[in-house]
Amino acid sequence: MEFIHTGGLRYLTFDIFPSEVVHAVFTRQGGVSPEPWQSLNVGGTVGDERSRVRENRYRSFHAVGRQVNSLFDVWQVHSADVVLANAPHPRYENPPEFKADAIITDNPAVTLFMRFADCTPILLYDPRKRAVGIVHAGWLGTVRRAAGETVKAMRAAFGSKPSDILAAIGPSIGPDHYEVGNDVETQVRYAFGKEAELLLHRNHGPKAHFDLWMANQLVLRQAGVEQIQVAGLCTACHPADWYSHRAQKGKTGRFGALIALRQ
Ligand SMILES: [Zn+2]
Repeated sequence: MEFIHTGGLRYLTFDIFPSEVVHAVFTRQGGVSPEPWQSLNVGGTVGDERSRVRENRYRSFHAVGRQVNSLFDVWQVHSADVVLANAPHPRYENPPEFKADAIITDNPAVTLFMRFADCTPILLYDPRKRAVGIVHAGWLGTVRRAAGETVKAMRAAFGSKPSDILAAIGPSIGPDHYEVGNDVETQVRYAFGKEAELLLHRNHGPKAHFDLWMANQLVLRQAGVEQIQVAGLCTACHPADWYSHRAQKGKTGRFGALIALRQ
Protein backbone atom coordinates (compact mmCIF):
# COMPACT_ATOMS: atom_id res chain seq x y z
CA MET A 1 0.00 0.00 0.00
CA GLU A 2 1.12 3.51 -0.65
CA PHE A 3 -0.25 6.94 0.12
CA ILE A 4 0.10 9.29 -2.84
CA HIS A 5 0.29 13.06 -2.25
CA THR A 6 -0.73 15.39 -5.05
CA GLY A 7 -2.21 18.89 -5.13
CA GLY A 8 -2.95 18.83 -1.39
CA LEU A 9 -4.78 15.49 -1.67
CA ARG A 10 -3.63 12.30 -0.04
CA TYR A 11 -4.96 8.99 -1.29
CA LEU A 12 -4.34 5.31 -0.71
CA THR A 13 -3.36 2.84 -3.43
CA PHE A 14 -2.87 -0.93 -3.32
CA ASP A 15 0.17 -2.78 -4.70
CA ILE A 16 -2.02 -5.73 -5.67
CA PHE A 17 -3.28 -3.71 -8.64
CA PRO A 18 -0.99 -3.27 -11.67
CA SER A 19 -0.57 0.11 -13.33
CA GLU A 20 -3.26 -0.59 -15.95
CA VAL A 21 -5.82 0.00 -13.20
CA VAL A 22 -6.54 3.56 -12.04
CA HIS A 23 -7.69 3.40 -8.43
CA ALA A 24 -7.72 5.41 -5.22
CA VAL A 25 -9.25 5.55 -1.80
CA PHE A 26 -9.21 9.26 -0.99
CA THR A 27 -8.55 10.56 2.50
CA ARG A 28 -10.42 13.65 3.66
CA GLN A 29 -7.41 15.85 2.94
CA GLY A 30 -7.17 18.41 0.14
CA GLY A 31 -10.75 19.61 -0.30
CA VAL A 32 -12.71 22.82 0.24
CA SER A 33 -15.41 21.87 2.78
CA PRO A 34 -15.40 23.33 6.32
CA GLU A 35 -16.11 21.39 9.53
CA PRO A 36 -17.79 18.98 10.12
CA TRP A 37 -17.02 17.85 6.55
CA GLN A 38 -13.45 19.09 6.45
CA SER A 39 -12.30 18.86 3.80
CA LEU A 40 -12.57 16.52 0.79
CA ASN A 41 -16.21 15.53 1.35
CA VAL A 42 -17.75 13.86 -1.71
CA GLY A 43 -21.07 12.97 -0.09
CA GLY A 44 -23.99 14.90 -1.55
CA THR A 45 -26.54 14.05 1.14
CA VAL A 46 -24.72 14.98 4.36
CA GLY A 47 -25.60 18.70 4.54
CA ASP A 48 -22.56 20.08 2.75
CA GLU A 49 -23.06 22.57 -0.10
CA ARG A 50 -23.33 21.16 -3.60
CA SER A 51 -20.76 23.54 -5.03
CA ARG A 52 -18.18 22.32 -2.53
CA VAL A 53 -18.99 18.64 -3.12
CA ARG A 54 -18.68 19.27 -6.86
CA GLU A 55 -15.26 20.89 -6.41
CA ASN A 56 -14.11 18.05 -4.15
CA ARG A 57 -15.18 15.45 -6.69
CA TYR A 58 -13.44 17.40 -9.42
CA ARG A 59 -10.22 17.48 -7.38
CA SER A 60 -10.44 13.75 -6.66
CA PHE A 61 -10.91 12.78 -10.30
CA HIS A 62 -8.30 15.30 -11.47
CA ALA A 63 -5.74 13.84 -9.04
CA VAL A 64 -5.87 10.47 -10.81
CA GLY A 65 -6.23 11.84 -14.34
CA ARG A 66 -9.91 11.01 -14.90
CA GLN A 67 -12.68 13.27 -16.16
CA VAL A 68 -15.58 13.79 -13.74
CA ASN A 69 -17.99 13.07 -16.58
CA SER A 70 -16.62 9.51 -16.76
CA LEU A 71 -18.34 8.86 -13.42
CA PHE A 72 -20.80 6.12 -12.67
CA ASP A 73 -22.13 6.06 -9.12
CA VAL A 74 -25.15 4.63 -7.36
CA TRP A 75 -27.50 5.45 -4.52
CA GLN A 76 -25.97 3.27 -1.78
CA VAL A 77 -28.64 1.43 0.22
CA HIS A 78 -26.83 -1.45 2.03
CA SER A 79 -28.07 -4.03 -0.47
CA ALA A 80 -26.24 -6.79 -2.33
CA ASP A 81 -27.46 -5.48 -5.69
CA VAL A 82 -24.93 -5.05 -8.49
CA VAL A 83 -25.24 -2.65 -11.43
CA LEU A 84 -23.45 -3.20 -14.74
CA ALA A 85 -22.15 0.16 -15.97
CA ASN A 86 -21.91 0.06 -19.76
CA ALA A 87 -21.30 3.79 -20.12
CA PRO A 88 -20.57 6.80 -17.91
CA HIS A 89 -23.52 8.22 -16.04
CA PRO A 90 -22.47 11.63 -14.73
CA ARG A 91 -25.49 12.61 -12.65
CA TYR A 92 -23.47 13.95 -9.76
CA GLU A 93 -25.76 16.96 -9.31
CA ASN A 94 -28.68 14.71 -8.37
CA PRO A 95 -29.14 11.52 -6.45
CA PRO A 96 -27.89 8.72 -8.68
CA GLU A 97 -30.52 6.81 -10.61
CA PHE A 98 -29.69 3.28 -9.47
CA LYS A 99 -30.05 1.93 -5.96
CA ALA A 100 -27.25 -0.60 -5.47
CA ASP A 101 -24.07 -1.26 -3.51
CA ALA A 102 -21.81 -2.61 -6.20
CA ILE A 103 -20.93 -1.54 -9.73
CA ILE A 104 -18.97 -3.40 -12.40
CA THR A 105 -17.70 -2.45 -15.84
CA ASP A 106 -15.37 -3.52 -18.63
CA ASN A 107 -15.55 -0.14 -20.35
CA PRO A 108 -12.37 1.94 -19.88
CA ALA A 109 -14.43 5.12 -20.38
CA VAL A 110 -16.24 4.51 -17.07
CA THR A 111 -14.94 5.46 -13.60
CA LEU A 112 -16.70 3.54 -10.83
CA PHE A 113 -17.13 5.77 -7.79
CA MET A 114 -18.53 5.31 -4.26
CA ARG A 115 -18.67 7.13 -0.92
CA PHE A 116 -17.75 5.88 2.56
CA ALA A 117 -17.61 6.74 6.26
CA ASP A 118 -16.99 3.43 8.14
CA CYS A 119 -18.45 0.95 5.63
CA THR A 120 -15.93 -1.14 3.75
CA PRO A 121 -14.75 -0.20 0.25
CA ILE A 122 -13.86 -3.25 -1.82
CA LEU A 123 -12.13 -2.87 -5.19
CA LEU A 124 -11.95 -5.69 -7.74
CA TYR A 125 -9.95 -6.20 -10.93
CA ASP A 126 -9.88 -9.09 -13.38
CA PRO A 127 -6.66 -8.67 -15.42
CA ARG A 128 -7.60 -11.48 -17.82
CA LYS A 129 -11.04 -10.20 -18.85
CA ARG A 130 -10.10 -6.57 -18.16
CA ALA A 131 -12.98 -5.66 -15.90
CA VAL A 132 -13.31 -3.81 -12.60
CA GLY A 133 -15.78 -3.62 -9.73
CA ILE A 134 -16.41 -1.61 -6.58
CA VAL A 135 -18.44 -2.59 -3.52
CA HIS A 136 -19.85 -0.77 -0.48
CA ALA A 137 -20.23 -3.15 2.46
CA GLY A 138 -21.27 -2.17 5.97
CA TRP A 139 -22.43 -4.89 8.33
CA LEU A 140 -25.62 -5.45 6.36
CA GLY A 141 -23.94 -5.53 2.96
CA THR A 142 -21.38 -7.90 4.46
CA VAL A 143 -23.93 -10.39 5.82
CA ARG A 144 -25.76 -10.10 2.49
CA ARG A 145 -22.45 -11.02 0.79
CA ALA A 146 -22.39 -8.01 -1.50
CA ALA A 147 -18.75 -8.72 -2.46
CA GLY A 148 -19.62 -12.31 -3.37
CA GLU A 149 -22.59 -11.18 -5.44
CA THR A 150 -20.26 -8.80 -7.27
CA VAL A 151 -17.86 -11.63 -8.12
CA LYS A 152 -20.83 -13.63 -9.44
CA ALA A 153 -21.96 -10.66 -11.51
CA MET A 154 -18.45 -10.28 -13.00
CA ARG A 155 -18.52 -13.94 -13.94
CA ALA A 156 -21.95 -13.59 -15.57
CA ALA A 157 -21.20 -10.32 -17.39
CA PHE A 158 -17.56 -10.79 -18.43
CA GLY A 159 -16.79 -14.48 -17.95
CA SER A 160 -14.42 -13.64 -15.06
CA LYS A 161 -12.87 -16.57 -13.22
CA PRO A 162 -12.93 -15.75 -9.48
CA SER A 163 -9.37 -17.06 -9.08
CA ASP A 164 -8.17 -14.44 -11.58
CA ILE A 165 -9.77 -11.56 -9.69
CA LEU A 166 -7.55 -9.30 -7.57
CA ALA A 167 -9.30 -7.72 -4.58
CA ALA A 168 -8.49 -4.91 -2.16
CA ILE A 169 -10.32 -4.21 1.09
CA GLY A 170 -9.99 -0.55 2.01
CA PRO A 171 -10.20 1.45 5.24
CA SER A 172 -13.35 1.02 7.30
CA ILE A 173 -14.28 0.92 10.94
CA GLY A 174 -12.01 -1.72 12.48
CA PRO A 175 -12.81 -4.53 14.89
CA ASP A 176 -11.28 -2.46 17.71
CA HIS A 177 -13.99 0.21 17.32
CA TYR A 178 -16.91 -1.67 15.80
CA GLU A 179 -19.03 -2.73 18.76
CA VAL A 180 -22.33 -4.24 17.64
CA GLY A 181 -25.61 -5.07 19.33
CA ASN A 182 -27.37 -8.41 19.67
CA ASP A 183 -29.40 -7.83 16.50
CA VAL A 184 -26.27 -7.52 14.35
CA GLU A 185 -24.53 -10.36 16.17
CA THR A 186 -27.52 -12.62 15.48
CA GLN A 187 -27.45 -11.82 11.78
CA VAL A 188 -23.70 -12.39 11.59
CA ARG A 189 -24.17 -15.80 13.21
CA TYR A 190 -27.02 -16.62 10.84
CA ALA A 191 -25.01 -15.57 7.77
CA PHE A 192 -21.68 -17.17 8.64
CA GLY A 193 -22.53 -20.19 10.81
CA LYS A 194 -19.60 -21.50 12.80
CA GLU A 195 -17.19 -19.14 11.02
CA ALA A 196 -18.97 -16.30 12.88
CA GLU A 197 -16.83 -17.02 15.95
CA LEU A 198 -13.80 -15.77 14.02
CA LEU A 199 -15.59 -12.58 13.01
CA LEU A 200 -17.02 -11.56 16.38
CA HIS A 201 -14.27 -10.43 18.74
CA ARG A 202 -14.85 -10.52 22.52
CA ASN A 203 -11.59 -9.03 23.76
CA HIS A 204 -12.75 -5.39 23.73
CA GLY A 205 -15.53 -5.56 26.34
CA PRO A 206 -18.79 -7.35 27.05
CA LYS A 207 -20.32 -6.67 23.63
CA ALA A 208 -19.14 -8.28 20.43
CA HIS A 209 -17.01 -6.37 17.95
CA PHE A 210 -17.60 -7.30 14.32
CA ASP A 211 -14.56 -7.69 12.06
CA LEU A 212 -15.66 -6.31 8.68
CA TRP A 213 -12.22 -6.93 7.17
CA MET A 214 -12.10 -10.61 8.01
CA ALA A 215 -15.77 -11.09 7.14
CA ASN A 216 -15.34 -9.60 3.68
CA GLN A 217 -12.20 -11.66 3.12
CA LEU A 218 -14.25 -14.73 3.98
CA VAL A 219 -17.06 -13.65 1.63
CA LEU A 220 -14.54 -13.15 -1.18
CA ARG A 221 -12.74 -16.45 -0.52
CA GLN A 222 -16.03 -18.35 -0.45
CA ALA A 223 -16.79 -16.75 -3.82
CA GLY A 224 -13.49 -18.15 -5.15
CA VAL A 225 -11.26 -15.07 -4.91
CA GLU A 226 -7.74 -16.01 -3.79
CA GLN A 227 -5.73 -12.81 -4.10
CA ILE A 228 -6.81 -10.21 -1.53
CA GLN A 229 -5.00 -7.23 -0.03
CA VAL A 230 -6.39 -5.73 3.18
CA ALA A 231 -5.57 -2.16 4.18
CA GLY A 232 -6.25 -2.87 7.86
CA LEU A 233 -6.83 0.84 8.50
CA CYS A 234 -9.55 1.81 10.98
CA THR A 235 -11.49 4.95 10.09
CA ALA A 236 -12.31 5.69 13.73
CA CYS A 237 -8.62 5.43 14.76
CA HIS A 238 -7.40 7.91 12.12
CA PRO A 239 -9.74 10.93 12.05
CA ALA A 240 -7.24 13.12 10.19
CA ASP A 241 -7.46 10.80 7.20
CA TRP A 242 -10.93 9.27 7.21
CA TYR A 243 -14.51 10.19 7.93
CA SER A 244 -16.06 7.93 10.54
CA HIS A 245 -19.81 8.01 10.94
CA ARG A 246 -19.50 6.40 14.34
CA ALA A 247 -16.50 8.34 15.72
CA GLN A 248 -17.95 11.67 14.57
CA LYS A 249 -21.45 10.74 15.78
CA GLY A 250 -23.12 11.01 12.39
CA LYS A 251 -21.96 14.60 11.70
CA THR A 252 -19.34 14.04 9.08
CA GLY A 253 -18.57 13.75 5.39
CA ARG A 254 -17.90 10.88 3.01
CA PHE A 255 -14.58 9.91 1.49
CA GLY A 256 -14.46 8.68 -2.08
CA ALA A 257 -13.08 5.56 -3.68
CA LEU A 258 -12.78 4.92 -7.39
CA ILE A 259 -11.53 2.35 -9.85
CA ALA A 260 -11.26 2.36 -13.64
CA LEU A 261 -9.43 0.65 -16.48
CA ARG A 262 -6.66 2.88 -17.78
CA GLN A 263 -7.55 4.12 -21.26
ZN1 LIG B 1 -10.15 1.85 15.52
